[in-house]
Amino acid sequence: MDKGKVYKKAIDNWGFKSQSIMLMEECAELIQAVSKLHRTGNPNKMYEEIADVEIMIEQIKTFYGDVAEKEIDKHYKNKLDRLEGLIQNAGGSKKDM
Ligand SMILES: [Mg+2]
Repeated sequence: MDKGKVYKKAIDNWGFKSQSIMLMEECAELIQAVSKLHRTGNPNKMYEEIADVEIMIEQIKTFYGDVAEKEIDKHYKNKLDRLEGLIQNAGGSKKDM
């Protein structure tokens, strides 16, 4: 399966507006699943919703193409560096779940 072709076909079939609304809906479902995780302790629904959100994000990225990929990658690297700095500054303090 060529994921890129599937994402492009989905955008071609249903359009950017429909798929961006789907992204919002899937994000809401993920929020709900993470919330329920704290009550149930079962992560299976969260795993499913993460997959849904990732698939919708990939469709949106496909729509915007290589420029978006470069911009997102730049933000990703900056935020990962920032997180690494925060972890180093935290000095090993841990929070439990
Ligand atoms: Mg879902």
